[in-house]
Amino acid sequence: MNIKLGNLVQDQWIEGDGDGNILTNAVNGEPLAKITSAGLDFSSILHHARSVGGANLRKRTFHERAEMLKELAKYLMEHKEEFYALSAATGATRADSWVDIDGGISTLFVYSGKGRREMPNDHVYLDGPPEQISKNGTFTAQHIFTPKLGAAVHINAFNFPCWGMLEKLAPTLLAGVPAIIKPASSTAYLTELMVRRMITSGVLPDGAIQLICGSVGDLFEHLNCQDTIAFTGSKNTAEFLQQHPQVVSESVAFTAETDSLNSSILGPDAVPGTPEFDLYVKEVTREMTSKAGQKCTAIRRIIAPAAVTAELIEALSAALGKIRIGNPANENVHMGALASQGQRAEVRSRVADLSHEADVVFGGTEDFDLIDADATKGAFVMPTLLHCEQPLTSHSVHSVEAFGPVSTILPYENIDEAIELSRLGEGSLAGSIITNDNSVARQLVLGTAAFHGRMVVINRHCAAESTGHGSPLPHLVHGGPGRAGGGEEMGGIRGVLHYMQRTAVQGSPQTLTAIGHRWIRGADQNDPGQHPFRKTFEQLELGDTLITDAREVTLEDIEHFAEFTGDKFYAHTDEEAAARNPFFEGRVAHGYLILSFAAGLFVDPDFGPVLANYGVDDLRFAQPVNYGDTLKVRLCCKQKTLRAGTGYGEVRWDSEVTNQNEEVVAQYDVLTMVATDEHWASVN
Ligand code: NAP
Repeated sequence: MNIKLGNLVQDQWIEGDGDGNILTNAVNGEPLAKITSAGLDFSSILHHARSVGGANLRKRTFHERAEMLKELAKYLMEHKEEFYALSAATGATRADSWVDIDGGISTLFVYSGKGRREMPNDHVYLDGPPEQISKNGTFTAQHIFTPKLGAAVHINAFNFPCWGMLEKLAPTLLAGVPAIIKPASSTAYLTELMVRRMITSGVLPDGAIQLICGSVGDLFEHLNCQDTIAFTGSKNTAEFLQQHPQVVSESVAFTAETDSLNSSILGPDAVPGTPEFDLYVKEVTREMTSKAGQKCTAIRRIIAPAAVTAELIEALSAALGKIRIGNPANENVHMGALASQGQRAEVRSRVADLSHEADVVFGGTEDFDLIDADATKGAFVMPTLLHCEQPLTSHSVHSVEAFGPVSTILPYENIDEAIELSRLGEGSLAGSIITNDNSVARQLVLGTAAFHGRMVVINRHCAAESTGHGSPLPHLVHGGPGRAGGGEEMGGIRGVLHYMQRTAVQGSPQTLTAIGHRWIRGADQNDPGQHPFRKTFEQLELGDTLITDAREVTLEDIEHFAEFTGDKFYAHTDEEAAARNPFFEGRVAHGYLILSFAAGLFVDPDFGPVLANYGVDDLRFAQPVNYGDTLKVRLCCKQKTLRAGTGYGEVRWDSEVTNQNEEVVAQYDVLTMVATDEHWASVN
């Protein structure tokens, strides 16, 4: 066995110096590969990321980077069987590998979709609306996000060699930041294979990713304030790295996802015989045994009413007794091996620690049946359930993480005790509550949410579609306070912003419009020389403005609208009742009548480049419109987002409806699809 894992350095695969450490197959103990990063020039790795990778990525818009993620995901999907084959060596069953491999690749797809839908086709991301900071509006402010000019150093844990890399990589690349990936040694062979395929895909620009298999050497010595560290692993390592003098002195952004004594609470209503009791048994069993319990989100503490403890032990023992352990490549096997012999020793030692305060009620023995595997060679352990009689006064059950198929039952007498027990975990990634009583759900969520990054409430109504206690989703934040590291990853676009810098920019509306590519009130409004609906996407300019003719709203219009639409709300139909309403002096026009008249005033009816109106945003009716009032509209091109390859782009129009006294009665953004030059020429 002479295969040394490659390090991807400055777009070249190179081997580290020396023999390195031997990595073994978790199932049969056979050597797989050697790992070493000795001799690498870590300063040059950082320099390459910043000067080549960052520069290449930042040339692309958010949408172009999102497209890149999609292409990458498609390529990896085509090669996934290779990853599955190697994943078995980590001890993972096919179902475990699905979470790691398909789950990881789907994170790329989700970020690609979100990037194109929720971010502009541009290089700057605007954070909220402008802030009014001057009386006359000539000096204003806008928060913006731009990519950091450094590298993202990703240090990953061993348990999800693919997902762990991809969940960090997707938001990083979308942000326009290059990544230096350092997988945990014991399963780095699978990460390395996936990185090799990413490179052969040809989708990523030079320098976008580099891979270090082995130690990070003196990398930390060269970090600066533009770099970001995203760490996943144990709390001890996180603390050590977080205190590195360079990290401290350069204020290097550091996000940590660490240990977590996650709890799952069974509601007092969920007694044996209810669907929720059965759901709980299923959920806990799955969380204990999937990935052989090597999940940072797994349920470690089972918080259940004292009155049902005996039945719960019986039901969980029966369910765990059906779990078949052995070679994960064998399809009859439910639970494979831990990632290494070292992990098995670690888990046994943690169970011994827990046993001082809790009794083993299932498992905990080295004598169990194995399918198609040798217990002396593979890192197999039996699912182990413990029961702690005095959980409020015990310490280890709330602080010792056995990173394997191990969980402890903690009985409670009342809801306050359940909350207190959950909080004793001192910060968790994920918590769950199984109850069909929504007032219990509210009490428990409000009592424990401050200690959790994510909470899932499961009952008979949502169980079939529930993603379960332990599945982090790219749409939702992953991270937690306290023991869980205090970090936060993913959560949709929130995760992208971790790799970017927020800056408050102050200036004139015209300047801020030019910087952010979104027209701001007070900036120039141009006469486009023709109706703006006659212009193609490319021809339209921010600030192109239409001011319409005026139209009077008559009582007949209001009555007609009420009859026609069926909206006969008294404020539009009953003079006396309307006057008793504190907002009106008499009958007023419907808000939707104002919108309809506004559309009638601003649209250009002929066939043209505007393809469709797909909605309005931020609609406000500022003051009532009485019959006899005269309305006109100002429509101004506010923002353009090209949908590359579709033949159109989205155009957002700032719309203001005013009355005869120039008072604003309604304001909103009109959203339209507008044809590109090319598409317009092809249909016109
Ligand atoms: P670990 O020993 O802390 O290692 C985590 C990562 O840090 C590995 O890549 C490791 O590399 C690296 N590392 C260790 N010492 C380092 C140093 N001095 N400088 C730079 N990097 C260093 O944790 P683990 O045993 O792999 O993972 C298990 C733990 O991770 C569990 O406690 C689990 O709860 C936690 N975890 C948390 C999450 C989460 O999202 N919160 C997810 C998964 C796991 P080497 O392997 O090369 O030493």
